[in-house]
Amino acid sequence: MRISRFFIDQPLSTDSAIDINDERAHYIRNVLRLKPGDSLVLFNGQGGEYRAIVSDVSKKTVTAQTTHFDSINRNLSRSITLGLGILKRDAMDLALQKAVELGTSNIQPLITDRVTVSAKQIKTRLQHWQSIATSSCEQCGLNLVPRILEPKPLSEWISSLDEICFIAEPGAERKAFHIEASQSPISILVGPEGGFTDQEVELARESGLQGVNLGTRILRAETAAISLLTLVNQSLLESDSSNF
Ligand code: SAH
Repeated sequence: MRISRFFIDQPLSTDSAIDINDERAHYIRNVLRLKPGDSLVLFNGQGGEYRAIVSDVSKKTVTAQTTHFDSINRNLSRSITLGLGILKRDAMDLALQKAVELGTSNIQPLITDRVTVSAKQIKTRLQHWQSIATSSCEQCGLNLVPRILEPKPLSEWISSLDEICFIAEPGAERKAFHIEASQSPISILVGPEGGFTDQEVELARESGLQGVNLGTRILRAETAAISLLTLVNQSLLESDSSNF
């Protein structure tokens, strides 16, 4: 059976007793029904992970004893930033979860002309989005938790880019791409439910973003993000197999 992994927001070291008090304690006790002697993996986002053994289970707290540290890093060797037009609640959650699984290092929520989520709602969701990224890391084995960056307007983000960049755009000519082996970061851009305006596409193109066409069907934004990230993963695999 796969050993469950938990993000612990506190310093960790080997041979120490770690008290887990948040909703994870409930999950460990009532859902996984772990008992003293069962194994866990703990990580705190600083890199690497700790093997641990449950030593005590009480009503509110699960205590685990760390045994050894493994410095394993399952991130891609290239930094990938996903710039994503802010989507409605469930679609955004899904896009973030899958983007993390597919190796995205940073997620930049973007305010574009056709974003329908209000500024007030965006503010209240930041912490929720970060917790989705953390849960996704628990599930997929990443030990460095991707950052959800402070939302910003599309034009501001585009003007700060100086790396290899692609924009998912249904009208683009390019249907496949190749990413040269190098250490340069990669940024990709996907629009919100209503897509980009012509002016936004023009701005992106003028700023050097390369358009990528993901097929003849119009995909939902969350599908487009997954699809483009899969292409990036595939291209990285071809150029540098150490990514896998
Ligand atoms: N309502 C819009 C579609 C928006 S889909 C329209 O009809 O044009 C949301 C985003 O997903 C788009 O902005 C684009 O970034 C991406 N996307 C969807 N389908 C795509 C495709 N076939 N090729 C490239 N990008 C696509």
